[in-house]
Amino acid sequence: MVHNVIIVGSGPAGYTAALYNARANLDPLLFAGIQPGGQLMITTDVENYPGFPDGIMGPEMMELFRKQIERFGTQIKDHTITKVDLSQRPFKLWADDEMFEAKSVIIATGATAKWIGLPSEVTFGGFGVSACATCDGFFFRGKNVIVVGGGDTAMEEANYLTKHANKVYLVHRRDSFRASKIMVDRVMNNPKVELITNTVLEEITGQTDPVKKVTGVRMLNVSTEKTSTMDIDGVFVAIGHKPNSDIFKGWLDMDDVGYIKVQANSTRTNIPGVFAAGDVADAVYRQAVTAAGTGCMAAIDAERFLEAEGH
Ligand code: FAD
Ligand code: NAP
Repeated sequence: MVHNVIIVGSGPAGYTAALYNARANLDPLLFAGIQPGGQLMITTDVENYPGFPDGIMGPEMMELFRKQIERFGTQIKDHTITKVDLSQRPFKLWADDEMFEAKSVIIATGATAKWIGLPSEVTFGGFGVSACATCDGFFFRGKNVIVVGGGDTAMEEANYLTKHANKVYLVHRRDSFRASKIMVDRVMNNPKVELITNTVLEEITGQTDPVKKVTGVRMLNVSTEKTSTMDIDGVFVAIGHKPNSDIFKGWLDMDDVGYIKVQANSTRTNIPGVFAAGDVADAVYRQAVTAAGTGCMAAIDAERFLEAEGH
């Protein structure tokens, strides 16, 4: 069977694309991947998605997205697409050994957390090193933790962690922040957060016996070039994300980081019939509402493409 549209990804972009394509009777097939609901499944309050004046929890919002597309009959598979062949139509996509064919494809695979690259991050991953305060903050009740980063995620994680931790140190490599002013102000006004700027983590130290756990860090002040150590119970890395575009490398035009390039005022990629929406194609805005907006654009672009092709 050749599907009209296959949507890869189940964040705000993928779900919104599915909503529009399902309501246009295109019977979309959506692959949800390893994180059904996308990045907002690992956050707490979403306060800037229009329509929720009191805010809403991320997972609750994505559950509502899913219910809405199920209402219009989208077929959802909780599989990950592992390989594609976009050389000719119908396009071929594989979920492990199973192959699926489609006349058009919407890529909405989003982005995932980046790591600093220290070997100790791997050693202590899940044992005091985390990239998700919502998931792991509870384990640091009454303890002292570090959050690394200077973007909105770092600010949000730092604030959230003060609900559990005794003290949160926000370590940032510069002395100015790319986070929005309101988020920075919240952190600065939070008495449980202390800012450590112009500083990078050189090593996360800990014990492996009798139980594996983080006990401290070694830091470098990049202005003074002085090294220091600090006792700490946990490290939360919040330094941004990498677009999930590896399986499309070689097929689609991308920038240096791996963001899929789309043509101006559209979601069209360099291959006719293949569209990209949300964070995987957006190095600039990366918001739930913009992901949903471009998901809508991709659905309309796919519908018009199919129409023009006489399907
Ligand atoms: P994602 O939400 O990243 O979803 C990607 C989807 O693709 C996932 O379902 C994944 O399983 C799937 N996928 C990936 N690869 C494959 C594959 N090979 N096969 C099948 N499926 C695949 N934005 C806001 O506007 N407000 C906020 O308050 C806010 N808070 C945030 C808090 C945190 C901690 C984070 C990390 C981000 C936050 N953002 C917020 C940003 C927002 O989450 C993203 O902009 C948005 O989720 C992007 O949506 P997306 O649909 O492009 O991709
Ligand atoms: P981001 O905006 O890309 O910020 C990443 C931060 O980590 C930057 O401060 C960066 O430093 C730092 N960094 C990167 N690599 C590093 C390294 N190797 N070592 C040390 N520090 C490093 O990423 P984000 O904060 O995850 O935000 C992503 C998007 O989601 C943004 O568009 C954001 O607005 C959105 N978001 C929104 C909300 C909200 O509105 N409530 C909440 C969370 C996220 P430099 O500044 O020096 O580059």
